[in-house]
Amino acid sequence: MTDDVNNDQSSDNKEQIKNERHKKKSQKQKEKVDAGIAKATEERGIVIVITGNGKGKSTSGFGTVARAVGHGYKAAVVQFIKGQWDCGERNLLQQNGVPFAVMGTGFTWETQDRAADMAAAEEVWAEAKKFLADPQYHVVLLDELTYMLGYDYLNSEEVLDAIRNRPAEQSVVVTGRGAIKPLRDLADTISEIKDEKHAYRAGIKARKGVDW
Ligand code: ATP
Ligand code: MG
Repeated sequence: MTDDVNNDQSSDNKEQIKNERHKKKSQKQKEKVDAGIAKATEERGIVIVITGNGKGKSTSGFGTVARAVGHGYKAAVVQFIKGQWDCGERNLLQQNGVPFAVMGTGFTWETQDRAADMAAAEEVWAEAKKFLADPQYHVVLLDELTYMLGYDYLNSEEVLDAIRNRPAEQSVVVTGRGAIKPLRDLADTISEIKDEKHAYRAGIKARKGVDW
């Protein structure tokens, strides 16, 4: 036998061993996943909190809304910070029948007028409460709500009660940095998005269609 043939055979063997190992590993993984699925039997809406300093919180919330709408469910969005007025998701989702309540005046990162901010927060919260009491909404997104709770612009007990007492089939997504402990306690799912790198810090401008 030539060396070439020997080499071919040993690399074939290695490949076979690798494939078998992979198969065993996948089988074990599948058993684990199946056992987990079998255990998850409760059916109800959930509270999802997407927090942390990294990018991707609001996009995740809007992604969930798009998912619901794509399945023919109704969803509603409340935007607690005026921020970037133009909003690609809003343009798209409103055309698809998703109602938006947007904090119209007051709070942006620049305002210093606490009383005006609180009044604006109360006004949009009144809209949010209606969505949270209405069983026709499968998903309600409360975008940037965490700041209203962190700065005490809204009464956190009242907000958390409204979320807690929502219709059983309704899911709520809350986004924003620095989610307070009582909100975390209420949540079923919490994702803390880590800021590992952000283009902005390399001097790259926020981009339309990517950042808003
Ligand atoms: P996105 O809307 O892109 O999902 P986000 O909701 O996680 O972002 P916010 O804190 O709401 O983040 O910030 C809104 C804007 O700030 C977006 O344009 C986003 O790209 C940008 N941004 C998010 N994270 C960072 C960061 N760590 N540094 C600088 N800019 C950021
Ligand atoms: Mg956001």
